[in-house]
Amino acid sequence: MEPILLSPAFKDYLWGGTKLKTHFGKKSDLAILAESWELSVHKDGQSTVASGRDTGLSLSEYIKKHGDTILGSKAKAFDYFPLLIKLIDAKDNLSIQVHPGDEYALKNEGEYGKTEMWYILEAEPGASLYYGLNTTITKEEFQKRIEENTVLEVLNKVEVRPGDVFLIEAGTVHAIGKGIVICEIQQNSNTTYRVYDYDRRDAAGNPRQLHIQKALEVSDLHPVPQQDSTREVIEYPGYTKEPLASCRYFTVEKLEISGKATLAADADSFQSLIVTEGGGTLTLESTVLPLKKGDSIFVPAQAANYTVEGTCSLILSYI
Ligand code: ZN
Repeated sequence: MEPILLSPAFKDYLWGGTKLKTHFGKKSDLAILAESWELSVHKDGQSTVASGRDTGLSLSEYIKKHGDTILGSKAKAFDYFPLLIKLIDAKDNLSIQVHPGDEYALKNEGEYGKTEMWYILEAEPGASLYYGLNTTITKEEFQKRIEENTVLEVLNKVEVRPGDVFLIEAGTVHAIGKGIVICEIQQNSNTTYRVYDYDRRDAAGNPRQLHIQKALEVSDLHPVPQQDSTREVIEYPGYTKEPLASCRYFTVEKLEISGKATLAADADSFQSLIVTEGGGTLTLESTVLPLKKGDSIFVPAQAANYTVEGTCSLILSYI
């Protein structure tokens, strides 16, 4: 099975900017590109095949055509395609939000919950985000602080730099701050409970809808555990590998290619590659794909090696 280039679905949410076009080569008629959904079969925005004989098929049509074996044996544990991978350009602050876990989401929303991982691609000097709470509070205090516009005082504000990683378990209150571009690897879910929107109003003077009751039911109101910031870099011929995060839903690694790297596809899981810097060429048997910054590649599950030749940084995700 040949690896394929994917073309994303775009979202022009109000808080987005233009860096996905200017820095990551995304082409769209939309004036604002807040998000590009680089690996998605979600009904709210699908990726499409952009290389090979299946060009033009949506990713879900492509999977239907070739069968579940291209997802790998581990995908059998999930009722439907498990991952959603995005690039996100926050020109403005996103609302403070929380996502439910699987049990709550399947019962109340009809889809999986959302644990997500952020890899910081770009951060303007001083840019920060909110990641969990900085103290333990009660539900009553949480609600009161939301109503009185003081909830930011109990959130863990973190200044970020490119390369930083955050694993945001379902139930963790969070928000991306302005001036940050991230690659987000998440469960295939679009359920978000908005906790607080900085008391912002739209042109008509109306606030955005909040989902405070549901947020109170799913939020973890304890300080977020300290993330281990030490990361090992493992050297191989032609590349280095740095494990970024691993949880029961996905594993994410960063690969720095310099020369020619031989990588293994495997029958347990499909692979997603996002090119975050540089460029090169990916070859699997007779399939040759040119790679450039911003590209998203889907490698079907199979027992085969492929090579990446060039100078580039890749985010590799699999289940
Ligand atoms: Zn989120």
